[in-house]
Amino acid sequence: MANCIFCKIAQGEIPSTKVYEDDQVLAFRDLDPQAPEHILVIPKKHIASILALGAEDKDLTGHLLTEVIPEIARNLGVDINGFRLVTNTGSDGGQTVEHLHFHLLGGRPLTWPPG
Ligand code: IMP
Repeated sequence: MANCIFCKIAQGEIPSTKVYEDDQVLAFRDLDPQAPEHILVIPKKHIASILALGAEDKDLTGHLLTEVIPEIARNLGVDINGFRLVTNTGSDGGQTVEHLHFHLLGGRPLTWPPG
């Protein structure tokens, strides 16, 4: 989608520090990390948020959650002590980029509740 920063990252038009890539998914380091490991996991296809997922995205979301995210966590070593997976949605959710993304945060103890 034109003017979507994460679509531009997915297409290689904007550089990113990649930690995982396949034909459907890209994961890269957040520019403003909130933890020692702060990765953004995105579908390459433009989907505005979790609310915009459709039935046609079941394979993609299953792939993301059952394969990609556990693999990234293991590769980073955060599977050992744990990590947090967050998808901010809409204005109250704190979403600033309207392209579905999961924040994978780890490498230190994380507090709860969020602000
Ligand atoms: P949100 O606020 O949940 O939508 O998360 C958007 C995230 O994207 C924020 O944590 C930003 O730091 C991050 N971000 C924005 N632009 C870039 C970029 O060009 N590269 C990597 N991360 C980015």
